[in-house]
Amino acid sequence: MSITDQAPAQEHPAATTFDSLDPATGQVVGTHPVHTEEQVRAAVERARVEAQWWSGLDFADRRRHLTAWKAAMVQRLPELVDLMHREGGKPRGDAALEAGLAVEHIAWAAKNAKRVLRRRRVPSGLTMVNQSASLAYKPLGVIGVIGPWNYPVFTPLGSIAYALAAGNAVVFKPSEYTPGVGEWFAARFTEAVGRPVLQVVTGFGPTGAALCRAGVDKLAFTGSTATGKRVMAACAETLTPVLIEAGGKDSVIVDADADVPAAADAALWGACSNAGQTCIGVERAYVHEKVYDEFVSAITAKAQALHAGPDDKIGPITMPSQLDAIDAHVRDALDRGGRAVVGGAGAVGDRFVQPTILVDVPEDSIAVQEETFGPTLTITKVRDMDEAVELTNASRYGLGNTVFSKAEGVTIADRVRSGMSAVNGVITFAAIPSLPFGGIGDSGFGRIHGADGLKEFTYAKAIARQRFKPALELTTFDRTDKADQRFAKLIGVMHGRGAKD
Ligand code: NAD
Repeated sequence: MSITDQAPAQEHPAATTFDSLDPATGQVVGTHPVHTEEQVRAAVERARVEAQWWSGLDFADRRRHLTAWKAAMVQRLPELVDLMHREGGKPRGDAALEAGLAVEHIAWAAKNAKRVLRRRRVPSGLTMVNQSASLAYKPLGVIGVIGPWNYPVFTPLGSIAYALAAGNAVVFKPSEYTPGVGEWFAARFTEAVGRPVLQVVTGFGPTGAALCRAGVDKLAFTGSTATGKRVMAACAETLTPVLIEAGGKDSVIVDADADVPAAADAALWGACSNAGQTCIGVERAYVHEKVYDEFVSAITAKAQALHAGPDDKIGPITMPSQLDAIDAHVRDALDRGGRAVVGGAGAVGDRFVQPTILVDVPEDSIAVQEETFGPTLTITKVRDMDEAVELTNASRYGLGNTVFSKAEGVTIADRVRSGMSAVNGVITFAAIPSLPFGGIGDSGFGRIHGADGLKEFTYAKAIARQRFKPALELTTFDRTDKADQRFAKLIGVMHGRGAKD
C-alpha cells in the first residue's frame, strides 16, 4: 500500500462514513460516520439538555460521576492502549503513559473544582465598606472540543475533563486519524454516568467547522496554528469564545554548569518520543559553548542506538502528509550548510522516520523556524545564556521549553517567552495537574489544566450585597453637595499621595 492510500477517506461530498487506518500497516482499524452540520447541531441541542442536568448537580455529585468514569477507563486500560497503538501508531508503553497521565487530570479537576469555582467572599474596599462582595465561577453551558491525533487521549481530555468538572456538557470532535479513541472514552463516560453529558461527533474539517457554528458556548481547539485561525474566524461569526492550543517550536537550553548526560538524554527523548509528533516536543537545542562538544557527542551516541520501526521505541508517522514536511525541513537544513550527525538525507522512509540530529543549521532555515513534527533536533552553539534566551524567544511560537542548569535554571526559564518551562527535566509541567498548560503567540491562548484550566470553561459571576445603609449615599439622585465634597475628600486622602513631584 502506498503512502497516499494510508490517509483516511478524504472529504468526499457523498461519503457518509470513513475509515481510521493503522499508520504502521495501512489496515482498517474502524469505520466511523461523517457527521453532517444537522447532526452536529442535534448533538449540541442534546448536550444543552444534558448541561441543564449536569450543572444542577453539586460539586460532590459531579466528582462522584467523574471518578466512576475515570475508574471505568482504568479498568479497561489495555483495550484503550491497544486502540491508541493501532489508530495512532504509538508504542504501547507510550500509549499507557499518555492514558495514565490523562486520568490524573480527570482526578485533579474532579477534586479541585469546588475549591476553585465555588462562591467566595472578596474584599469590598473602603468606599464600598457597607457591601459584601462575592464571586463564583459558573459553567458556560455546552463546550465544543476539537482535538488532534498526536495525543488522542491526553490532549482532548485536558479540555474535556476540566470543562466537565466545571459543570459543562461537551461535544467532542476527535481527529479523523483517531476517531475510535474519542468514541471509546466517551462511551465509558455514558456507561459510568448513565447520561451522555459527553458526546462525540466524527468526521473531517467540515464537521469541526460545523461544531464552531452549532451554537456552543465556547470552542476549545487543539491542533495546528493554521486550523486554529480558521476555527477562530468561524467562531467570530457568532462571538463564540475560543481557546486555542496550537503548535510549538520548543527549545532546550543547556548551560555551562548543566548535567550534560542528563540534558542529552532529555533532549533526545523530548525530540524523538512519539516520533517527534509532540506539540511540546523539543525541536531546537541551544548549548553553551563550554559544553557543546560534550553534549553533541553524548546525544549522538544515544541517538545512534535508537531506531524507528514497527516494534521499536519510535513508531510510524501518523499523518502521511507530514513525511514530506519533515523531509523538506531536513533537506533545507542540509542544503544551507547544516550537517547531520545522526540520520539525515535518507532518514524519511515510507512510514517511519529515523532519528535525525542536525548541527550548524542557519537560524533562518525552516528546520529552526517552523514546527517539524518529526524525530529531529537542531543543535546550535551559543556563547552564553543571553544568546540562548534571545534565540529561543526569536520564534513566533511560545508553547513550552526546557532548561538544563544547576545554578540558574529557574532564572533562565523565567526569561523564556513561553507558557511553560521544565528545569532539569523535560515536559514535566504537563504531568503536574495544578500547573496551567498553554502558549502565547502562534502557539495560541487560553489555558487548560490547573485552576486556570477550570476557570477557562466558566464565566465569573460577581455579586455585591448591601449589608447596611452607606454613610455616603452615592448612587442616588438625592445625592447632596456635601456627600460629593466628602467623597472627593475621601478619594484625596486615599489616593492623592505618591505623585512624582
Ligand atoms: P489539525 O489542525 O490538522 O487538526 C486538528 C483538528 O481540527 C482535527 O480534528 C481536524 O479535523 C479539525 N479541523 C480541520 N479543519 C477544521 C476547520 N476548518 N474547522 C474546524 N476544525 C477543523 O492538527 P493535527 O494535525 O490534528 O494536530 C497536530 C497539531 O496540533 C500540531 O501543530 C501540534 O503542535 C498541535 N498540538 C497542540 C497541542 C497544544 O496543547 N498546544 C497539543 C497537541 C497538538
